[in-house]
Amino acid sequence: MVRIAVIDKDLCKPNKCNYECIRFCPINKSGVKKAIELGEDGKPVIYEDVCTGCGICIKKCPFGAIHIENLPEEIEDKLVHRYGENGFALYGLPIPKRNEVIGIIGRNGAGKSTSMKILTGILKPNLGKKEASWDEVLSKFKGTELFNYIKDLRDGKIRAVYKPQYITQAAKLLKGTVGELLKKADERGVFREVVEQLNLTHLLNRDVRNLSGGEMQRLLIAAVIEKDVDVYAFDEPTAYLDVKERLSAARAIRNLIPRNRYVLVIEHDLAVLDYISDLVHVIYGVPGVYGIVSQPYSVRVGINHYIKGYLPSENMRIRDRPIRFETPEAREKFLPTEVYLTWDRMFKRIGDFELEVEPGDARRGEVIGILGPNGIGKTTFIRMLVGELKPDEGFVPTEGLKLSYKPQYVSPEMFKRFGTVKELLKRVREDFLDTSSWYYVEVVKRLGLNKLLEKEIKGLSGGELQKVAVAVALGLDADVYLFDEPSAFLDVEERLAVGNAIRHVVESKGVTAFVVDHDLVIMDLIATRVMIFQGTPGKRGHALPPMSLRRGMNEFLKELGVTFRRDAETGRPRVNKEGSRLDRYQKSIGEYYYT
Ligand code: ADP
Ligand code: ADP
Ligand code: SF4
Ligand code: SF4
Repeated sequence: MVRIAVIDKDLCKPNKCNYECIRFCPINKSGVKKAIELGEDGKPVIYEDVCTGCGICIKKCPFGAIHIENLPEEIEDKLVHRYGENGFALYGLPIPKRNEVIGIIGRNGAGKSTSMKILTGILKPNLGKKEASWDEVLSKFKGTELFNYIKDLRDGKIRAVYKPQYITQAAKLLKGTVGELLKKADERGVFREVVEQLNLTHLLNRDVRNLSGGEMQRLLIAAVIEKDVDVYAFDEPTAYLDVKERLSAARAIRNLIPRNRYVLVIEHDLAVLDYISDLVHVIYGVPGVYGIVSQPYSVRVGINHYIKGYLPSENMRIRDRPIRFETPEAREKFLPTEVYLTWDRMFKRIGDFELEVEPGDARRGEVIGILGPNGIGKTTFIRMLVGELKPDEGFVPTEGLKLSYKPQYVSPEMFKRFGTVKELLKRVREDFLDTSSWYYVEVVKRLGLNKLLEKEIKGLSGGELQKVAVAVALGLDADVYLFDEPSAFLDVEERLAVGNAIRHVVESKGVTAFVVDHDLVIMDLIATRVMIFQGTPGKRGHALPPMSLRRGMNEFLKELGVTFRRDAETGRPRVNKEGSRLDRYQKSIGEYYYT
């Protein structure tokens, strides 16, 4: 066995503890050797070759800062990078291949960005040492498929361009209009095609400082595609994009990059990952502690293994049970029937935009999914329900009810009065740490917040903050819950956990939730019915009443001109290739979502 010990530097707070980890270590106590002692930075260092893995320090640390894992001996040889002593360890790398789009999937904190940074030359791998020379790195990959690629990296022969995950930081470095930036980036003379494919034509004269999240994302994808380089890397290209934009971005990446280049994509939306990739690598392990890169799988097979929670080539279970997709028949059998809320026609005009909502109802115990393009009035509708906006015509069905709302953009400032996650949650529910309470079991533990309790809110990653915001919303006792894009920044497991937590609260309390989201696979898993918004973004929105998933998805996808089929093995929805036999057949019988 190889032992790896990781100390989470954000959680380790030596000024607030009594160095329990060091004092109680039995090896230290024996007086012969030291397994753990104070390092130069004032935080402990664990010597992995001395430590026996007894786990006492893990239990004694009041902040849960220590993780120790035993891995099979043979993995040692695959160690590519380690963020310092007792830092996160990455084993293996995805294998870029010319003419193939390589998809990368895995939990947040599993090492996806780290592996992409290595393959694009941003991060030099250290093989777990203080530093490794390129020759050492190269000899590590001797006899593997990656050898030539690493050799080119060493020789500076690989030019790469990287679209980072957090685009707001990247955006701050940009100046000028969209058109100016894209003209400057255009090394391959594809400006016109890229602008058209990513629907940027009407934004060419807009100053980049005035772009929405989705517009900025499209601009950055476009600028990356225009470059003339060897490697094109996209870290979560679909954040902030609606379904139509996700599919056009995927098409742009597939069709507008020359075929003989390397393309790498990290993506959590399974329908998009499926559509965009030829091969996928799963990165599994313990988030924040270690990540292991799987063999490449063909995209259908790889995603199916992921859904089933088992990687056969690695003989590795990555989840204790498969993700199950219900058939429309099974789903319709259990639709809630008791009407909980009804609304008449509503109308609202804001500036040049107008929204009309058709009469509809919500049932007790139901999760209503809300789908539609960006700028069509979904947030306007939600804001009317929560009383932030008053309709010009019609009444608000939720007036007088207790509401709990998670807005689209979450930031630490939302919770500014609270220091740590624990302090915040305590304000929401006094009993949140009672391990027998429903809130602890169904929300806190399910979302993994029990591991974040001692973290400062302002130091949380985008995904961690999203989970905290959802937990706060679910912790309030409300009659109606509203979630605007709860899947943003979350990995697949977290998206499922959030969906299940919402469903649990709504069903057990006999209330209703409205959930706006662009991840169709997740929508399929959590919504009982869907409400579709149609019209012309920025001008006119028209909201249909809630409908069964089958009817609703048909309405939604018909507008997009896209059909989905069901994967025979897992039942998951898959995008059909445009013009394929199935695509044409499904369009002819008006079944865009189920066949
Ligand atoms: P993913 O992209 O899968 O979410 P990352 O590759 O960003 O994961 O990070 C994997 C782990 O490495 C995380 O636990 C993160 O905290 C840690 N990590 C990332 N960058 C650094 C760094 N510069 N120094 C120390 N640890 C880091
Ligand atoms: P969605 O949530 O579907 O993306 P929104 O409801 O946020 O759409 O916005 C619908 C349209 O209304 C957009 O064109 C937006 O620019 C416009 N809009 C929203 N709020 C305001 C406002 N306060 N003033 C002017 N226009 C607004
Ligand atoms: Fe204190 Fe825990 Fe850090 Fe040890 S690991 S110094 S017990 S906070
Ligand atoms: Fe010491 Fe046990 Fe912790 Fe290792 S796991 S450092 S032996 S207390």
